[in-house]
Parts: sequence; C-alpha cells; structure tokens
Amino acid sequence: MPGPLRRRANILAARAVADAVRTSLGPKGMDKMISSANGEVIITNDGATILNKMEVLQPAAKMLVDLSRSQDAAAGDGTTTVVVLAGSLLRRSLSLLSAGIHPTVISDSLYKLSVRAVDVLHSMAIPLELSDRDSLVKSAATSLNSKVVSQYSSLLAPLAVDAVLSVVDPEHPDLVDLRDIKIVKKLGGTVDDTELIHGLVFDKKVSHTAGCPTRVENAKIAVIQFQISPPKTDIEQSIIVSDYTQMDRILREERNYILGMVKKIKASGCNVLLIQKSILRDAVTDLSLHYLAKAKILVVKDVERDEIEFITKTLNCLPIANIEHFREEKLGHADLVEEVLIGDGSKIIKITGIKDVGRTTTVLVRGSNQLMIDEAERSLHDALCVVRCLVNKKYLIAGGGAPEIDMSWKLGVWAKELKGMESFCIKEFAEALEVIPYTLAENAGLNPISIVTELRNRHAEGETNAGINVRKGQITNILDENVVQPLLVSTSAVTLAIECVRMILKIDDIVTVR
Ligand code: ADP
Ligand code: MG
Repeated sequence: MPGPLRRRANILAARAVADAVRTSLGPKGMDKMISSANGEVIITNDGATILNKMEVLQPAAKMLVDLSRSQDAAAGDGTTTVVVLAGSLLRRSLSLLSAGIHPTVISDSLYKLSVRAVDVLHSMAIPLELSDRDSLVKSAATSLNSKVVSQYSSLLAPLAVDAVLSVVDPEHPDLVDLRDIKIVKKLGGTVDDTELIHGLVFDKKVSHTAGCPTRVENAKIAVIQFQISPPKTDIEQSIIVSDYTQMDRILREERNYILGMVKKIKASGCNVLLIQKSILRDAVTDLSLHYLAKAKILVVKDVERDEIEFITKTLNCLPIANIEHFREEKLGHADLVEEVLIGDGSKIIKITGIKDVGRTTTVLVRGSNQLMIDEAERSLHDALCVVRCLVNKKYLIAGGGAPEIDMSWKLGVWAKELKGMESFCIKEFAEALEVIPYTLAENAGLNPISIVTELRNRHAEGETNAGINVRKGQITNILDENVVQPLLVSTSAVTLAIECVRMILKIDDIVTVR
C-alpha cells in the first residue's frame, strides 16, 4: 500500500478504537459489558480496562490501546480521556493531510502545541497542601463519579485518601508505592461494607486439621518458605521397600523428622505460622498439621509467593527459608490473630494490633457479586492513583471540560499570532481539544453544540473555571461543584495523546516479518 494510503488506513483504524470508548466518558457515560471467549463477563467504565480486553489486531490501532495503558501507568486516571483526545486529533490530522500538508509539518506543529498546552494547564492549576484532606477527598470523588460504583463514593473516596496517606513515608513525602496498599476482595455483603484495615487480612481459613487453634492472642508470627513435610527423593529415583520392618523405619524416620522441626518452631516461642505455597512438594502434610496442632500453633497455609514481601513488611519480620535459621528475632508480633466469620458464613483471617507495624494498609473490598467487586476494585485503583498523583505533584485543576476548553481557546488565540501552515495546523488541533467537553455534554444528554459554544464564550471572557455541570445540565463554576482532578492527569493525557498521534502520523508502511 503506498504511504499516504497506509497512513490513512492507520488513522482510520486508530480512530475506530477511540470511537469505541467515547460513550463511556464522564459521569453520565455508559458502561461496557465485555464478554470474553472463555465466558467471562466484565462490567466496567474504565477506559484502560475496556481497551485491554478488546482484541485489537491492526498495529496502529493497538497503539491506542498502549496509549491508554501508558496513561494508566503515568497517572492512573484519565484513561478514556487520553484515547478520546487522540481520536479527535487524528480526525483533524486526516483533514490536514487531505489538504496536502506534509505529515512532518503536522507532526512538528503538534509538538509545539503540546508544549504550549502544558503551559496553559499549569497556569490554571491550584496548589494543594497534603493537609487539605477535603480537596483530596473531592478529587478522589471526582474520579469515582464516573464509575459503576459512584453511589458509594462518599465511602470510597475518604477511604482511598486515608489509605494513600497512611503509606506515605515522611522521608520521601513525594512518593507513594501502591504496592503498599493491598486490596483483598471478598464476595458477600455490599460495597458499603468495604473497610480499611490496619493490619493483615487473608481471604482464607486457618487450618482446622486435628484442632489447630483458630484464635491466638499475643501472637508470635513466623513467615516460612520451607516445607514441613518429608523430603522427596530426586526425580527418577525410587526406594524399594522389601519388608515391613523397613516400612516401619521409614515411617518412624518421617515422624521424627517432622517432630524435630515442630519442636524447633515451638522452642522459638512461635505460635502462628504463615506458610508459603510450595510447588516442590506439599508444604504441610496431615502429619505435620497434627503435630503443629498439638503444639498449639495456628497455621495459615498456601500463602502466595508474591504476598510474602507485603506480609513481612507489614509484620516487620523476616521470611525464614530454612528450619535451621528459625530464630526468635525473625518473628513478627501482634496482639491478635483470629479467624473471623463475616456476614454470609464465609471466613477470613485477621491479624491486628501488630507491633512496629510497617507502612502498609489493607483494604477489604466487599460486594454482592463478582462483577461488582471487580469493578469496585478497579474504581478504587483509579481513586488511589488520583490521590497518589496529588502526593507526587501537589496541584489540582478544575474538571468538567474546563481545562480542555481553556486550552482550546488560548491555543486558538496563539495560532492567530503564528504564520503559514503552522498557524493553520495549530488552529485545527486547538479546536480538536473541544472533543472532551463536547463528549461530556453529549453523554450527559445535553446539546453539545450549544454547551460548547457557551463554554467557549465564558472562557473567552476569562472565566477559567467554567465547566459543564452535568447534574444541573448547565455551565457553572465547576469548582463550586467540587469537581477537581489532579493536574498530572490532564497534563499527562495531553502530552501522551499528542505523542501517540505524532507517532502514527510518521508511519508510512507496515512491514510484516515472519
Ligand atoms: P477517564 O477514564 O478519562 O477518567 P471518566 O469517565 O472518569 O474518564 O471521565 C472523566 C471526565 O469526567 C473528566 O474530564 C472529568 O472532569 C469529568 N467529570 C467527572 N465528574 C464530573 C462531574 N460531576 N461533572 C462534570 N464533569 C465531570
Ligand atoms: Mg476517571
């Protein structure tokens, strides 16, 4: 396919992807029900999730999927916005190309535009203090507004703020590692029952074999990565037992071996064992559970490998990889470890009152069905990211289409000062940014043309924070509506979208290699 045609095909394919998520933008946006080949069904409003699940084959269209993923990594929210923006910029690029403008000129104009656009956003930004909890909650609530679980935002927004603030390390006040916040999903109850737990929670039962304890006060907790079971022979080797006395000896040896381990564990004062799941052999056997029960040790088995880091950080203890290294100083201490019955007869394990607790938090997400829980988790992720963005970069910006229309207007004015092709391109692209307020209005059932026109006029008169108030169906000062979002979400959306469009413009052929 010749270059210009190939470029055109790429742009059309990418635009089709953008069109697919357009209707889910904003608080009144629609949700998507995604059904995958294996019969799994998901209901979501999150752009990144929708695109991730879509089977996009065209390489240029795939770039839009990656775009949404990059935004998710950079800011966590604004994943629909970024794709809708890219779609609109691509549409204008196409008409500029048809007018005979060279792709390099278009691409260079886009670059200039992106630098200038970020300046405009910065000029609108409102500085924020982390002590201003109210504003943090408002921004978290804005990101939850557009979700399936929006009716729970009064619970989830403060929860997200508390979760993030509790893991901020005073020595690095700008950094938040979201891996320090563990989300445990448990079916049952409603999203209203979601809670923040200062401690550890496992969606498991403790071992009940042979009457192991299910509640231990004053716990001394060991996290072990070895197995309390008889060692296996190497692969391809076997032991042939020819008479009963040998059989007896093997069993006796096995028992002594395990008993020896349990005694060592008990001697250290340990009374709770968290046992990592093993792929080599059974981590515990009925026999070892029996001895552990006799030693009054509470056992939690099948702890996943990737949870170990979080657990040891929380308990402030060291994982133990070998029985020979089992020493008291490696244990963690907590007031209480217990198996708790929740609502509908299912059980979880809670560890509370941890001494020297690490800087981590657990959120227990509840919901009446799996679809709801999964979407609640994804929405909570967005809210956590929003708060994390604000910790990273302490600036807020108004939402409801205000930043986009402001950029559009100011860049349009700037375009008039420029000359030639560049001026023409920048004017077109400045207009393209209006897609966000246009779509917000459209999705809210308002007349997009009259809303965007009025919005543009208000911004031209200097009302920087005029935005679309979707509840009242008119234009108001959007800050009064408490619709605010992190500056980082908007800047990253604009720069990433422009970067992606420039990349697509520069491709003039697809070469398939096998
Ligand atoms: P994204 O995946 O890009 O975050 P959303 O569906 O969350 O997409 O929509 C985000 C957009 O909705 C932002 O432009 C935000 O300003 C706007 N928005 C959110 N809540 C409101 C509201 N209550 N009124 C007006 N606009 C809102
Ligand atoms: Mg959002």
